[in-house]
Amino acid sequence: MTIEIDSLNCSGCGNCAEICPGGLISLVDGKAAILRPEDCWGCAACLKECPDSLVSLRLPPALGGRGGFLKCRREAGRLLWLYFQGPGDGEPLVVDGEGREDGY
Ligand code: SF4
Ligand code: SF4
Repeated sequence: MTIEIDSLNCSGCGNCAEICPGGLISLVDGKAAILRPEDCWGCAACLKECPDSLVSLRLPPALGGRGGFLKCRREAGRLLWLYFQGPGDGEPLVVDGEGREDGY
């Protein structure tokens, strides 16, 4: 399990690097990059902290069918989880945090 970062659109805010408990993300030339993807355990903290939804969690086939990936987006103070089976898929499956105290 590992993440992918859309570094082309990264503003370099550093949120994902700060939150990663394993220190796996750094800013390289002002853009976020995962330095040791093999050490990522998929906690998804970095997904939740990116203000522009630029971090994706790549799912293994056992969890995501053919593979697939998770993204998340903040909307109206809530965090929406988006599951895609592959690039170019149609509508994402949206799982929001409604009913949870922390909104996650
Ligand atoms: S998913 Fe968790 S362990 Fe993996 S890079 Fe993001 S914050 Fe670090
Ligand atoms: S949180 Fe998002 S915008 Fe900020 S450094 Fe990480 S990938 Fe870039």
